[in-house]
Amino acid sequence: MSVSEMTQVRDVRHFVGGAWIDRESTESRTNPADPTDLVSRAPDADRGVVAEAVEAAQEATHPWGALSAQERGAVVAEAARILDGRAAEIAQLLTREEGKTLAEAAGEVDRAVRMLTFYAAQAWHPLGATLPSADGRTHLYTTRVPVGVVGLITPWNFPVAIPVWKLAPALVAGNSVVLKPSSYVPATTQALLECFVEAGIPAGVLNVVYGSGSRAGQALVDDERVAALSFTGSSGVGRGINLAAAARMARVQLEMGGKNAMVVLPDADPAAAADLCVRGAFGLTGQACTATSRVIVLRGDEHRLLDALVARTAEIVTGDPLDPRTTMGPVVTDRQLATDVGYVDQALAAGAELVAGGTAEGLFLEPTILRNVHRDSAIANEEVFGPVLSVLVADSREDAVNLLNSTEYGLTAGVVTNDVESAMSFARDADAGVIKINRQTPGTDVNAPFGGNRSSSNGLFREQGLTATEFFTRVKTVYLGY
Ligand code: NAP
Ligand code: MG
Repeated sequence: MSVSEMTQVRDVRHFVGGAWIDRESTESRTNPADPTDLVSRAPDADRGVVAEAVEAAQEATHPWGALSAQERGAVVAEAARILDGRAAEIAQLLTREEGKTLAEAAGEVDRAVRMLTFYAAQAWHPLGATLPSADGRTHLYTTRVPVGVVGLITPWNFPVAIPVWKLAPALVAGNSVVLKPSSYVPATTQALLECFVEAGIPAGVLNVVYGSGSRAGQALVDDERVAALSFTGSSGVGRGINLAAAARMARVQLEMGGKNAMVVLPDADPAAAADLCVRGAFGLTGQACTATSRVIVLRGDEHRLLDALVARTAEIVTGDPLDPRTTMGPVVTDRQLATDVGYVDQALAAGAELVAGGTAEGLFLEPTILRNVHRDSAIANEEVFGPVLSVLVADSREDAVNLLNSTEYGLTAGVVTNDVESAMSFARDADAGVIKINRQTPGTDVNAPFGGNRSSSNGLFREQGLTATEFFTRVKTVYLGY
């Protein structure tokens, strides 16, 4: 990587109907680790640009859907190959723009390559079933057909992986797409898009517009021609999208916030448990929907675990995420930092105690651990989305699971134990879409369904794995008499 590439300012343009659209760039994004490093300039789409993108997608739907699934899969496989070839450069850009460490960014790009490869292979999978018909002279079968134009709205925290886990199954299934990524990550999105363009995605099949959620995002949500909307982001924004989609009877998939907890049972080795909790809480600067935000420990066992948590947290090296020695990067924006610090201050005012961290310099917030956190306090119940971990005490195993289930969210839930009965009872009773036993709460395999319960999801369709295709297709039942 040359120095000029590392410091280059990327000019981002909308991509509509196979053409790069020149519009004045009004938005700029600086490196969260270094405010003097201007990473990208991007336009802010008005409703007109969004409407043009939807129109281009609509025109492309039929020819794209008419290709064989294998032909569409080949384009996605080629995009995987190109992304893999550009992995180091795109990881670097992701780090500059979003702030996760270079190792985390490389892991994200690698995961996206595997997802593209997985969905490209889906092109060979069966789409339906042959059913015995009550009429012996009827051939009765089901197949799956694309839904049409799909609108994808994505957050900033996984700017490569999240668009990919929506795009790949949508495209292979034969849909055309309009993507509206988070305005914090336009350059990373454009780099990903370039991989599809180079792979030969036909004009209009994949369109990307940049701009604020309240304008560009809302325009996509409201467009009658968009048959399905897949959104990942906060629960507040997701609720609004759900209402708007319902009003016009559009199919909608919402994956949203989390308040994930790790229950550490007394039989667990404290150092091993602390390692899982700390990686889950402070990996990705705690800015993952699946981050460990609460640790629940049984009364009497708290100090043993706290000592191990503090010792493991002391190993974290916070700093420039481009430096390979760094293990935790900055918070994404000053607004997010103010949210994180606000929750900590509120908890301290309500009687919580700091056992690690608590202070920030620039956008670098130290990994922060609080104890004596009141169950009813905001920090124990609301998503923080930063490197802040609350330790809560439960009176029994049952109380621990009730406490785990007591927030409005239900995305991932973890337990650390070697006792089979405890582990299996937890898997049954924890109300979350993903259960982790002796594994950290973040991180998922590309071939496994992913999604949450309650306010973490609208719960109708799971993302990733084979289940992703269910959202991007409709079942068609065919009776053929002969
Ligand atoms: P966000 O603020 O909800 O924004 C998500 C996306 O929605 C952005 O592209 C945003 O645009 C857009 N948006 C905002 N208002 C909109 C509106 N009225 N209509 C249409 N689109 C609108 O979320 P974020 O801050 O980017 O990401 C953090 C959140 O995502 C956390 O809550 C996290 O838990 C969640 N998340 C969930 C998952 C999961 O799979 N469950 C995965 C990752 C993250 P702009 O921001 O550009 O204005
Ligand atoms: Mg936001």
